[in-house]
Amino acid sequence: MNAPSPYLNLPTRSQDEVLAERMAAYNAKVLNTIVALFDPRNASQPLACAHCGSSAHVGLVGFTKKYAVTCESEDCPVDCQATGSTRDEAVKAWNTRA
Ligand SMILES: [Zn+2]
Repeated sequence: MNAPSPYLNLPTRSQDEVLAERMAAYNAKVLNTIVALFDPRNASQPLACAHCGSSAHVGLVGFTKKYAVTCESEDCPVDCQATGSTRDEAVKAWNTRA
């Protein structure tokens, strides 16, 4: 039996309700983490080229210390690439480009 709140006439929550709420919040957090792991926008590997389907390559651009992801096909209809100051940034830009 829970003691009534001395401040408000709000129903007091049982320990089970509080625990269930915490479990639900924890489960949602774990689920979000798992969903993020499988979201291609968070992948550290470049997706196939959106224009020709060929695999993409990550490399450094000359001496600029910038990373670029480019299509590996010489017959690609579009000369496309995405750059970033880190490898992950370049891959993310490549995977989310229009
Ligand atoms: Zn391509």
